[in-house]
Amino acid sequence: MPIADKMVKMVDGMAMVKKMFEEGARLRAKHGQENVFDFSLGNPDVPPPPEFKKVLRELVNSETLNHGYTPNPGHPQVRQAVAQYLSGEHDIELTPDLILMTVGAAGALNAVFGALVNPGEEILTPSPYFIGYDHYAFMANAVLKTAPTDSNFHLDTAAIEAAITEKTRVMLINSPNNPTGAVYSAEELADLAQVLDRASQKFGRRIYLVSDEPYRKIIYEGSVPSVFQAYPHSIVVSSYSKELSLAGERIGYLAVHPDAEDAGLVSGAAIVVNTMLCVNAPNMLQLAVARLQGITVDVSIYKRRRDMFCQGLADAGYEFNIPQGAFYLFPKSPIPDDVKFLSILKDELILAVPGVGFGAPGYFRLSYAVPDATITGSFEGFKRARERI
Ligand code: PLP
Repeated sequence: MPIADKMVKMVDGMAMVKKMFEEGARLRAKHGQENVFDFSLGNPDVPPPPEFKKVLRELVNSETLNHGYTPNPGHPQVRQAVAQYLSGEHDIELTPDLILMTVGAAGALNAVFGALVNPGEEILTPSPYFIGYDHYAFMANAVLKTAPTDSNFHLDTAAIEAAITEKTRVMLINSPNNPTGAVYSAEELADLAQVLDRASQKFGRRIYLVSDEPYRKIIYEGSVPSVFQAYPHSIVVSSYSKELSLAGERIGYLAVHPDAEDAGLVSGAAIVVNTMLCVNAPNMLQLAVARLQGITVDVSIYKRRRDMFCQGLADAGYEFNIPQGAFYLFPKSPIPDDVKFLSILKDELILAVPGVGFGAPGYFRLSYAVPDATITGSFEGFKRARERI
């Protein structure tokens, strides 16, 4: 085998994802773009806020812009701007040395797992979970372990406590959640913090909480409770992929709580991993986002689509939780075999992602980062698919 043995399974997995995308393109070519209802991609289609292009134009026209490497952890003034904004958002005193600018949230997760986890040690995450976690754990030679969530996809802290072992190094959560749309409450986070403290004491080693929050600003009521307020040994990972609709530009960050055990060592190690992986985060994007702190896409567009989609699916007889944040619906498959049900949906030219890909067979994921017409146009097909089973 010309490629590494360990890569064979990963390459096969990626080939399946590629096949899914190609299938969408094939159906669009055959039936016309407007007749295919593709809900498989989490690629934001809401335009970035107008401020983004303005800032980008100013940067491009600036005489002082240079295109050299940036300091590995990011420009000092950019880390300062992010630290200042997050200090206000989380109501703690964050300093720039605890901020690392990264290539999206994916880059931040790779950096933090590389920094914290020895080969064979465990990252624990509630299930259903974002498929990328398999990849980031693989890159760190770590084992991704899951604990079930409750019937509403919220944290089951008893199940989490039972799943922690002496090898658990990181507890990884994602709120607002991809794929379920759940947002964890302050009480849930406080309960989780107690579990992590107890387990850290029991096993004589600190378990860090990594909170993956790229959807923090895509929330439909109130705001997302802060993990920094719940547990000091936390690292927040985020990006501008969704909140500024800049997914393809690859810019994100991580922030280490100042009171985390060995906070300086952890951020220092993450900086080294990030340097080894990608040298530095994209220069122009760093400079742009520093000037866009607190600015977000128009979330009312996602809210309108969520409400429209929920109504249509409920009318068609589907069961699901109303998403509190992010832009995904995670309905129950009307038959236990979600993959089989998706093939029935495909006959109606509706594309979705099976729950099995998120560790949750019996469900399927629909992204509503799509035009309104794709949502409304799909309702008849959703109805017919249910009638056919
Ligand atoms: N975490 C979650 C839950 C995601 O859904 C995604 C992307 O869809 C990522 C991380 C990666 O985000 P980024 O594009 O900022 O690397």
